[in-house]
Amino acid sequence: GFSRRGVRGNFVPPIRSNGSNTGNVTSRIAGKGEDAIDDSTKRCLELLCGPDGELPEKLRNLEPRLIEHVSNEIMDRDPNVRWDDIAGLEHAKKCVTEMVIWPLLRPDIFKGCRSPGRGLLLFGPPGTGKTMIGKAIAGEAKATFFYISASSLTSKWIGEGEKLVRALFGVASCRQPAVIFVDEIDSLLSQRKSEGEHESSRRLKTQFLIEMEGFDSGNEQILLIGATNRPQELDEAARRRLTKRLYIPLPTSEARAWIIKNLLEKDGLFNLSNEDTDTICKLTEGYSGSDMKNLVKDASMGPLREALKQGIEITKLKKEDMRPVNLQDFEKALHEVRPSVSLNELGTYEKWNEQFGSLS
Ligand code: ADP
Repeated sequence: GFSRRGVRGNFVPPIRSNGSNTGNVTSRIAGKGEDAIDDSTKRCLELLCGPDGELPEKLRNLEPRLIEHVSNEIMDRDPNVRWDDIAGLEHAKKCVTEMVIWPLLRPDIFKGCRSPGRGLLLFGPPGTGKTMIGKAIAGEAKATFFYISASSLTSKWIGEGEKLVRALFGVASCRQPAVIFVDEIDSLLSQRKSEGEHESSRRLKTQFLIEMEGFDSGNEQILLIGATNRPQELDEAARRRLTKRLYIPLPTSEARAWIIKNLLEKDGLFNLSNEDTDTICKLTEGYSGSDMKNLVKDASMGPLREALKQGIEITKLKKEDMRPVNLQDFEKALHEVRPSVSLNELGTYEKWNEQFGSLS
């Protein structure tokens, strides 16, 4: 089938072809001795053709199945995250707006002295909203979002990572403005020369840097965002290309309160007093945004379990039979959901931030 699900499972509606007849794509590619390509691949290539019905230069020598993979699995037309969905991180939001959103919206103003860096690094503990920020940037700048996890290039795409990287940057340049989000970028641009560092992973890194260099010097409206929770593993070359480096820390107490309220209110389950919320915030020092989400999930099972204990059958259970989530639900959930980041790790981020971060 012709599945258009994004990497994170978001449904991406297929876009309509502009109606121009581009049926000769298949024959051209088939003529290059490739395997026969099926309808979905063909349709995907057609959507990338210019008004002249030709596939853009950059994509011509790439394997159709890789282009299709990028279009269907890596590209996300509607990332569906807005600034308001992200708790706290006011500083990061402000920096990102000036550094990358304005330039994407107004390339005519942001040139010459004002020309922006094309590489942004978001670093910090896992589960703090780095991916959300990437998606929100794409949304705010009306850009196409591409998400790839760098570790998949070395694990899942063994031997083909280089080609996939070319396809990724190739498709992105046809879909400008574009935001390319590379998760776990340290695994791609690491300075560690591990014993058995394969020739192939060295080539992959080189290819990636070449692609970045390419759009850095040109007029392309492409922003590369790298995310990592191991910034100290990036080498000098990687740092040089990721000119803006923003620390994305754990949520503050206020941000944690906001996450709790926001998630519960969405389901009509919020009825905590300010005092109870404060108590929960005190007990969740060190929890990441993602830990908070898991905590809320667990706590929200409390009212359900209680209603069932009273003998109501699950099939007959009505929403009204359940009370809102309360402090005790959270206290129980706190035993199940522990913080995933250690204090130790935080020190490393702060040190790296002082040395290499954009503190503006
Ligand atoms: P990262 O990319 O930093 O590892 P994500 O952006 O993927 O983390 O966040 C994972 C999930 O945790 C999000 O989908 C969201 O539900 C929750 N989350 C993390 N940080 C925040 C935040 N600052 N505000 C709201 N939700 C958050």
